[in-house]
Amino acid sequence: MNIKHEKSSALQRKAANLMPLGVNSNFRYWGDDKTPYVQKAKGAYLWDVDGNRYLDYRMAFGPIILGHAYDEIDARVQEEIQKGVLFAMTSELEISVAEKIVAMCPGVEMVRLACSGTEATMHALRVARAYTGREKIVKFEGMYHGFHDYLLFSTYAPVAAYGNRHDPIPIPSSSGIPKSLHDLIITLPVSDFEVLDKTLRRVGHEVAAIIVEPVMGNCAAIELAPGFLEFIRAKCNEYGIVFILDEVKTGFRVARGGAQELLGILPDLATYAKALGNGYPIAAFGGRREIMEIIGKGVAQGGTFNNNKCGVAAADATLDLIQKQPILETIAKRGRRLMDGLKQIFDDAGIPACINGYPAMFSFAVGVDKVTSQRDWAKSDHDYYLRLMEAAMERGVMPDYDPREPWFLCYSHGDAEIDQTLTVMRDAVRTAKR
Ligand code: PMP
Repeated sequence: MNIKHEKSSALQRKAANLMPLGVNSNFRYWGDDKTPYVQKAKGAYLWDVDGNRYLDYRMAFGPIILGHAYDEIDARVQEEIQKGVLFAMTSELEISVAEKIVAMCPGVEMVRLACSGTEATMHALRVARAYTGREKIVKFEGMYHGFHDYLLFSTYAPVAAYGNRHDPIPIPSSSGIPKSLHDLIITLPVSDFEVLDKTLRRVGHEVAAIIVEPVMGNCAAIELAPGFLEFIRAKCNEYGIVFILDEVKTGFRVARGGAQELLGILPDLATYAKALGNGYPIAAFGGRREIMEIIGKGVAQGGTFNNNKCGVAAADATLDLIQKQPILETIAKRGRRLMDGLKQIFDDAGIPACINGYPAMFSFAVGVDKVTSQRDWAKSDHDYYLRLMEAAMERGVMPDYDPREPWFLCYSHGDAEIDQTLTVMRDAVRTAKR
C-alpha cells in the first residue's frame, strides 16, 4: 500500500494551533507529520482523511466490540434519541441496562452508570474510602485506571524510576498531581506475592482499596501470575480492604461477565466502560449490595451525563446482542487463531517473542521469552515493535504503535481478515529487521 499523508499533515498543522498537540488526548498524537486524522470507519476497517484504508486493531482502544458503525446498535440509538437525550430524570432503559449488567457480571449486585472509565474508577475509590473509613489505595506498576489524580502513578515511567521492588517509589505520570496524594497511594510490582504480603502486614489496616486490572490491558496484555488475584481476594478479606477489579478493558469483551467470570474471581467492586456501549459514551461501576448501598446515604455520586441516551441505548443494544448470540465466543476463536499464527511467524523467523493476554485483547513482547510485569517487559525490544507496526501499517493493518497497547478484535474481524493480517505480518516480519 502506498500510504499518502498530505491531508493528515495539513490537518495536524491546523489542529496544533487550536488544540494542544492537535488532538484531544495525548495518546492520539503520534508525532508531527505522522499522526493520522480519521475520515470514517465501518466494521473492522478505518479510513483516514487521505483515503488510506486500514484493517483496524486499535478498536478505539477497546470499545468497539461488534464493529465500527454497527447497524443494529446505531439504529437503536437513532430510534431512542428521537425521544430526547437527557432529562435529569431516570428512564426505563437505564433500569434495563442495570438489569443486564447485574445478570451478566457475577460480582455485581448493584450498579451506577457513568460516562467514562476514568469516572468509574474515581467513583469506585470514593465508595471504597467511605465504606472502610480509610484513605490509602494500593495499585500496581504499569496498570492504568484513568486520568484522575488519585491513580495516575507508576503507569508509564521508565521502570528504573520505580526503585527497588521491595520498596517501590510511586512515580506520578504528570505534573500537576498534588504532592499530598503521594501519601495516599502505594504502588507495587504486579504478581509479587511477597511484596504485597509484606506491605499489607505494615499498613493493611490503613488501606481502603486494592485496585487491579485482571490482565495488564495497558502494558502489553501481560497476564497476572496464577493465583495472584485469589491472593488479593484473600488479603482483602483478611484486612477488610475493598477489592476493586478494573474491567474497563476486559468487561463485556473477554467473556460476557468479563474477567471475573472468565477467571472465577469475585471482587467487591468492578468498573466498566469501553465495550459496554460499542463506542458510545457509557461506563459503570458496581459490586456488592452492602457496599453500593452506602451511595446516597452520606456518600455522594452523580453526573449530568451519566444517563446520556446515546450511551444508555447503545449499552442496552450491545448487551442484548452479547447476551443472546455467541459473539464473544466467535471473537475468541478468531483471536486465538491470530495469536497462534503470530507466534508461528515469529518462531519461523527465529525471533524470540511471547504472546500475552486473551484472544479478544492480546499483545506480544519481542526479544524475550516471558514477561510477568512492567519491570521485565521494559527489557523487550520496543524499537523493533515500533518498526514492525510501521511495516504493518504500510501494508494496511493498523495495531497501535505503542507496544503497551493491546491488539483489540471485534466481531467484524472475520476469518478472511485474520488470514489477511497473518499474510501482512509474515511480510512485515521479513522486512522489519531486528
Ligand atoms: N481503566 C482501564 C483499565 C483503562 O484501560 C482505561 C482507559 N484505557 C481507563 C480505566 C480509563 O477509561 P477512560 O479512557 O474511558 O476514561
